[in-house]
Amino acid sequence: MSTAYTFVPSPEHEYPDHPECPERLNELIPKLDSFPAERIEASPAKHEDIARVHVPHLITGLERVCREGAPGIIDYAPTFVTRTSFEDALLAAGATLACSRAVIAGEFDNAFAIVRPPGHHAEPDKAMGFCLFNNIAVAARDALAQGLERVLVVDYDAHHGNGTQAAFLKDKRTAYLSTHQWGIYPGTGWLEDAPHARKRIVNVPLPAYAGDQSFARITEEIIQPTVEAFRPEMIFVSAGFDSHWNDPLTSLGLSSTGFFNISKRLVELAEEHCGGKIVFVLEGGYNPTNVANGAAAVFKALAGRIAPMGSRPGRGNGAGFDAGDPFPRREPELESRLEEVRRWHGF
Ligand SMILES: [Zn+2]
Repeated sequence: MSTAYTFVPSPEHEYPDHPECPERLNELIPKLDSFPAERIEASPAKHEDIARVHVPHLITGLERVCREGAPGIIDYAPTFVTRTSFEDALLAAGATLACSRAVIAGEFDNAFAIVRPPGHHAEPDKAMGFCLFNNIAVAARDALAQGLERVLVVDYDAHHGNGTQAAFLKDKRTAYLSTHQWGIYPGTGWLEDAPHARKRIVNVPLPAYAGDQSFARITEEIIQPTVEAFRPEMIFVSAGFDSHWNDPLTSLGLSSTGFFNISKRLVELAEEHCGGKIVFVLEGGYNPTNVANGAAAVFKALAGRIAPMGSRPGRGNGAGFDAGDPFPRREPELESRLEEVRRWHGF
């Protein structure tokens, strides 16, 4: 397997005491050279790339506020902008595009865009939730523009990706599946959000402390049937490491081994259904240790390979990956929620 990655740390996109800060990447940076992946360069996304998701006045408005009103707060999350944020956001989207284009062109098997600012809360007409442009939606739409017929975004960030859902709501070429803690920002992501799009807009709202065991069940009982029903030609993953159990902003229960397991299974599903085409994109994650371990788990998953014919394929049992950070509590009961989700979508 060959894996590409891009790295856009945006060191000048920062605001005093804000959790979405360059320091999130501090423990990851010294490890980057050790991953079995090749760094590729990225250029800023063009306006027409961004315009595949966002309305023109959002693009021009962000450019203006960064030039005339920065540094400043633009929503209650709070989302901030600095003098460089517009260029940083264009480069983050461009780096995500560089990954997906390299995979679609066959130059690499798969890729990981490690970028700031994150993207999945940014709606077509609104920057919000620490996000300016929706990097993953921009790359997904670009994949369609290049001739792919169906793309799926799986989002395991602790928050619901309202922006990606909004962008995909009426676009039958796209599917969106999100696991997220219920009751926290941004308040969307209930399983009935999109009754017209069953099996295509799939929300799995979770109780606090749902962790590795819960996600193992979700992977088999919700994610795999969604892939089989939608038959994507490429999978994108909003990889948010704030679903780790000791993230300072949220209360889910994944460990680094849990990140590896779900990532590995997504890579396997891409190999089974999409010719291996999968691109991970960094979203949240506000503890630098978790971000470094989570990224290591993703790179290890991307480097994996399905066992040859005749032997049993690996099912992501975490073989060889353990950051020594098991969830120290019991996970909540999940059966009734999974039953609701399965029944709603007919899985
Ligand atoms: Zn998040």
